[in-house]
Parts: sequence; C-alpha cells; structure tokens
Amino acid sequence: MVAILRAAIRPLARRGYATAVTGYGKEVDGFVGAVGNTPLIRLNRLSQETGCNVLAKAEFMSPGGSIKDRAALYLVKDAEEKGLIRPGGTVVEGTAGNTGIGLAHVCRSKGYQCVIYMPDTQSQEKIDLLRMLGADVRPVPAVAFDNPQNYNHQAKRYAASLDNAVWTNQFDNTANRNAHILTTGPEIWEQTNGGKLDAFICSTGTGGTLAGVTRYLTEKSNGRVEGWLADPPGSVLYNLVENGKAERVGNGSITEGIGQGRVTSNLQPDLSLLTGALHVPDSASINMVYRLLDEEGLYVGASSALNVWAAAELAKRKGKGSTIVTVLCDGAYRYQARLFSRVWLESKGLISHIPENLQKYIVLP
Ligand code: PMP
Repeated sequence: MVAILRAAIRPLARRGYATAVTGYGKEVDGFVGAVGNTPLIRLNRLSQETGCNVLAKAEFMSPGGSIKDRAALYLVKDAEEKGLIRPGGTVVEGTAGNTGIGLAHVCRSKGYQCVIYMPDTQSQEKIDLLRMLGADVRPVPAVAFDNPQNYNHQAKRYAASLDNAVWTNQFDNTANRNAHILTTGPEIWEQTNGGKLDAFICSTGTGGTLAGVTRYLTEKSNGRVEGWLADPPGSVLYNLVENGKAERVGNGSITEGIGQGRVTSNLQPDLSLLTGALHVPDSASINMVYRLLDEEGLYVGASSALNVWAAAELAKRKGKGSTIVTVLCDGAYRYQARLFSRVWLESKGLISHIPENLQKYIVLP
C-alpha cells in the first residue's frame, strides 16, 4: 500500500506539488475550535498594479462563514467566564446579520438556546437561515434606537426576564474587541513574518475588528504599524476620524453590516490610535466585488470589496513596496440576489460602474 502511494506521490512532487499540509496544524475541538486561523491571501492583481503587497484575511472561510464567528465565540465565552450563563442557558442578541449566524452556530455546538430579535424589514432568507441553524427568530417592528420597542432593547429586556440567560450586546460588550486582540491581530502578525506590514485597514459595524486588530498591532510594533478606517456612505465615522466631527457623509449604502452613527464601546478605547480614514463610495465597492471575482476568483460581499478598495488606495498612498492588510468579512452568497441582479443594480444606478467586460457576471434578471 505504502509503495502504491509513493508511486502516486512521486510524479506529482516532480511536477512541483508540495505534499506538506501548511497552516492548519492538528485536529481542532468542534465548531468553536475551527473558528479563526484563516488564510492571509495575497491579492495578486492589485499587488501588481500598486507595486505593493495587498493582503486580505479570508474570514469567509470561518465555519459560520464570516468574521463575526470570532466575536460570537468570545461573547459567549465571556458570559460563561463571568458566570452569566450555565449549561442549557439562553443567549439573546439583537442582530440581523452575521453575528446572529455566528451565535446560532456557537449555541448549537455548546448546547445553548439562541434567541434573535431583528427588525421585520429583513429578508426572508436571513430569517430562514437563522431558523435552520436552530435559532428562535423574533422579527419586531423596525423602529428607531430611542424607541423602547427597538429590537436591541427588546433583546435586552427578554434576556433580563429569563433565568440563566444573557444578552450578548455585541456593540458595547468589549469581549467582541477582545476576540480580535487575542486572535485576528496575532494571526496577522504571524502571517506577515513577525509584523512586516505597514498598515491595517477595514470598515466597522460594531468596530470590534478595527479596534482589536489596531490595538494589537500598534502595541506589538511600538506604534510602527498604522490602523486606518474604511467607511461607507451614511456613516459618521469618516468625518469623526478625519475632522473630529461625527457628521454623516452621504445617505445610505449598498454595503450591509457596516457604517455607524455613533462610537460604540468597542471602538472607543482605540479611536485615538487610528492614523486616518478613507471614505469609499458604493461605486468603488461594487466595482471591486466584480473585479475580485474576475481577477482573483474571490466571491465576497460588498463590505469585503470596500475593504479591499481601501487597502489598495492606502497602498498607493504609502508608496511602492508597502504592505497593507485588510479582511474579507464574508462571502457573496448572502447577498447574491442583489449584487448580481441587473434590475437591482439598475435601481441603485450602479451598472455603469461595472466595466462592460465584467457585466457577464450579472447573471440574475
Ligand atoms: N462586514 C460584515 C458583512 C459584517 O456583518 C460586519 C459586522 N456587522 C462587519 C463587516 C464589521 O465587523 P465589526 O462588527 O467587527 O466592526
């Protein structure tokens, strides 16, 4: 048997195939053991174009499909460590997106109940997915944050009404930021040969990723590695970082899960560490969704595309030879009905930003 195997391997090795498995190490313990440790992908075309190293961490490869697996895991761990939740308990969160998916997975794997409050404006696909993952989904009227019936307040109240339950509070519970100080930051440091990078840049929803990674890289490099914000239309943070005033730029954005109207407790401690911010219009984000697919074979959502556009822009500013790192937050699967629909793209006035030779990817009516 061994001889047969060797006979199969030798010709492959001669053709340059390596048989060593790299990066993943030994078996991991269940779903939670598989969270993180994602590859850092060199984006070859953008790197070539800029004369820099544009690198992106493949968070879409996490087992729940997004960067929010890390936050979900650390929010639950934090509740366990503080004794807020015991076996069989209930995790409650207000979320319409990736955090809910991450929490639903983590809860199944650890044997907790998962209850998700979300605005009733969300797509049926999102509700269905969370239900398939075993979550108890509660769509509630979409009202502003200052209304007590807002989905976040309802989540908080519901958790308080139960015994052995926790409201994970992803926006203001800094266990979220800690996930990135303890995992994403150190992984980037290791994967760039001990911190051979000039800057990290990404957009924010809760701010956990940007704050945690910036904190880790800044401290580890004694301030040499810079942290930058990439911000979509509709957010106040670009102006806050660049001009000190929390004023919105533009209205809404086609990106989902990012853009903020306030400074969360996760971002607050590290806001002053940021070197600067880049505003990224939707036209640039949609263009990059299609370029990444065509040039790199990467099928990622609009927040990832926004991050990559910003990383390439920052690379140009930093000059040839610089190394910029960002994150690919999730795959395009969750948004494909929009991002690859001609009708939808036309309704947003975005078709003209997709070059003609890439319009073949618009396969949905
Ligand atoms: N991209 C997507 C698709 C997301 O769902 C989120 C989280 N809302 C982010 C980016 C931003 O991550 P963070 O909450 O760590 O700022």
